[in-house]
Amino acid sequence: MPELPEVEIAARRIATAIKGARVESALAPGMVTMKSFEPALESIAGSRVEGVRRRGKMFVVELGELCLLVHLMSAGRLQVWDKRASLRDRASRLLVRLDDGRELRLREFGTQQRAWAKLLRCEEIEADEMVATLGPEALPAPPTAELAAVLNQPRHLHPLLRDQRVISGIGRSWVDEILWTARLSPFRKGADLEVSDVEALGAACESTLQGALDHYEEVIGPTVPDKLPMPLQVHRRAGEPCPRCGAQIEAIHFKDYVMCYCPAEQTGGRVLKDRRLSRLLK
Ligand SMILES: [Zn+2]
Repeated sequence: MPELPEVEIAARRIATAIKGARVESALAPGMVTMKSFEPALESIAGSRVEGVRRRGKMFVVELGELCLLVHLMSAGRLQVWDKRASLRDRASRLLVRLDDGRELRLREFGTQQRAWAKLLRCEEIEADEMVATLGPEALPAPPTAELAAVLNQPRHLHPLLRDQRVISGIGRSWVDEILWTARLSPFRKGADLEVSDVEALGAACESTLQGALDHYEEVIGPTVPDKLPMPLQVHRRAGEPCPRCGAQIEAIHFKDYVMCYCPAEQTGGRVLKDRRLSRLLK
């Protein structure tokens, strides 16, 4: 799932490409994509794209008085295409046709339709339930006192940091990188953190997410590819040596994600039980 750096770089590139362009028409081939009904999607015809920005893991496409709020979920992509999509393209979810022939297209891979969009009056964006419930943005990292306050919960850091209501922008990939950078166990509880741990986490959010964004700025051209070159050091690298200390990176497999960590630096040398393996061995 695209997280803060991936959505941010896409928002920047899309903004550069279509700022000032005029919308000719819009339609949503995805039957369940539009989660709002009023104003009607067709009403953006004739408006100009005034900007594209990010809020949490969502895009905000500013179209004058109206704004499109777009969430890619796990398999969506928002990109600008030079030509219009074929109406037979089953990946199309939302098509914003520009009068210069280009198209801002929300596509989704796979058969599920989970990516969504809402057309709202711009002043209503912050009050929308998906935005109003967001925790502080992970980049720039919140000040230590604020971060300590939002993390002060008896929950493990891995799910806690991925909870958008706690802190927004972090998902399954970058949480591993942030915890590894801060040298903290994914199973430490938010409420048990020392001030120095919170400081390390804040610094890790900043350096990891900003580092990813800087990397994308350098390697990604005008069009964001379907698959981004993510500069990951531990996530999905189980079995490889830790780039910092050389110990073997370990993984724990959950139903729909993998947690990777360096036992030498994050869990006091302990290799935590892989639930998938232990289930198989029963
Ligand atoms: Zn290590």
